[in-house]
Amino acid sequence: MSAAIGKVFLVGAGPGDPGLLTVRGRELLERADVVVFDHLVHESIPGIARAGAERIFVGKRPDQQPLTQDDIGRLLVTLAREHACVVRLKGGDPFVFGRGGEEALALAGAGVPFEIVPGVTAGLGATAYAGIPVTHRGLASSVTFVTGHAATDDPCSPSRLDRLHLDGTLVFYMSASRLEENLRAVMAAGRPPETPAAVIESGAQPRQRVVTGTLAELAARAATLGVQSPALVVVGEVARLRDQLKWFEDRPLFGRRVVVTRAKDRAAELIRLLRERGADIFEFPTVEIDASPVAAPLGELSAYAWIVLASINAVETLFARMAADGVDARSLHGVRLCAISARTAEALHQRALRADLTPAEYESENVADEMERAGGPLRGQRVLMPRPEIGRSALPGVLRARGAEVHEVPAYEAAIPRDSAQLAGALLEFAPDYVVFSSASAARNLGAILGPARTAALTRVAVFAAIGPIAAQSAADSGMSAAVVPARHTIAELVAALAAHDAQRRA
Ligand code: SAH
Repeated sequence: MSAAIGKVFLVGAGPGDPGLLTVRGRELLERADVVVFDHLVHESIPGIARAGAERIFVGKRPDQQPLTQDDIGRLLVTLAREHACVVRLKGGDPFVFGRGGEEALALAGAGVPFEIVPGVTAGLGATAYAGIPVTHRGLASSVTFVTGHAATDDPCSPSRLDRLHLDGTLVFYMSASRLEENLRAVMAAGRPPETPAAVIESGAQPRQRVVTGTLAELAARAATLGVQSPALVVVGEVARLRDQLKWFEDRPLFGRRVVVTRAKDRAAELIRLLRERGADIFEFPTVEIDASPVAAPLGELSAYAWIVLASINAVETLFARMAADGVDARSLHGVRLCAISARTAEALHQRALRADLTPAEYESENVADEMERAGGPLRGQRVLMPRPEIGRSALPGVLRARGAEVHEVPAYEAAIPRDSAQLAGALLEFAPDYVVFSSASAARNLGAILGPARTAALTRVAVFAAIGPIAAQSAADSGMSAAVVPARHTIAELVAALAAHDAQRRA
């Protein structure tokens, strides 16, 4: 038996909201060689690992025999022999009803080094997101976490509750399927039937649902509403506080299903802002920036009067080309920079460059007018425009009509990602309320991936939101007319406009 070369980290992923992963957990994921996870882990968390890391799903799949706990233990031991950093992600906390103890014992038994990174367990995370404090002065001075799933002869079974703190808060895990049985056991143990209680389904997730009632009536209520796993049951006076402390469901986009179509590595801010408002996100990367830009010379930079940058990609490829060609940044001296959007200006700012112009309106004639106001008549001026291969903009033509000499450099490609066809089916199943386009290529590519029939199906359920008129035009050309277009074309304004639209729809 070869010795382990690596270490296994048992990491708690929290109860659902990816923001509840610990800093330590994130740090380890970022350097993991392999990530092993199951279904209670939020889908975005394994994605934190670098692109080359291996991801292994060990949860139940409809078409496969589930792995046993022994299989998982053996898998972790094997992986530690092959990789330096193995992250085993578990929902909530690894040591709270997560069988993390068993996995750690398997590692200890095989002599594999390991570390435990605690997580926010559902009993604390889902209750907090439901507005139920598990202890409260005057109402509950203890809290007990109980499994609702143990066999009746098990000493940990709820039917043996007389052993437990019966005046405090009880939190049952794994109780969706045995709710009635468990609540009856609590009453049999002496808790009055009128004791407040709550079921929290998918706590700390955009689909969180909380059903409240008394011990006597809760099971029937939950059954009527079809409460499903994962769900927790909270029993005790504290459950009453939810009426005043409910907060999670009050967020402006709570539960709204939103499709984000940006390129994967560009979507973080948009997703964060939407999630903060409670939206349920479906990530559909429709754009992949081809990292190997078409080799086309930029020309002598100092000979240009203007460089027009139509997107963050344009900024990035300009600098990538300059670096590849050994061009010094000082050759931009004296060249005016026009950033077509605030985000593009921000990308320049990050490179310590100030845009000379960020037009108020993106309509081509207006951009040309503003350029002339800032830099004099365009006639005879040389303009450089790094542009996407398959992009489409009226601006170069308008500038040429005014006598400018425009050099378009096909710098990068907004290609359709390879795995997008698979996602297309799942998109309609997700039944989105909104689809958000933060670029023209995202809209155009989605139309191309879906084709006319599925696009038509999508327009029947979803409202489209576009960051600006160019993206809106591209969406409209693909049959997806945008009802939401913010006055200022930034990600923050887009999210604000979406929330405002939603509030109106609800009113
Ligand atoms: N280790 C996990 C628990 C795993 S046992 C933790 O610390 O949270 C699985 C049970 O946890 C589920 O049956 C359910 O009772 C509970 N649970 C996990 N995530 C939950 C969530 N988001 N909302 C409600 N209950 C959850």
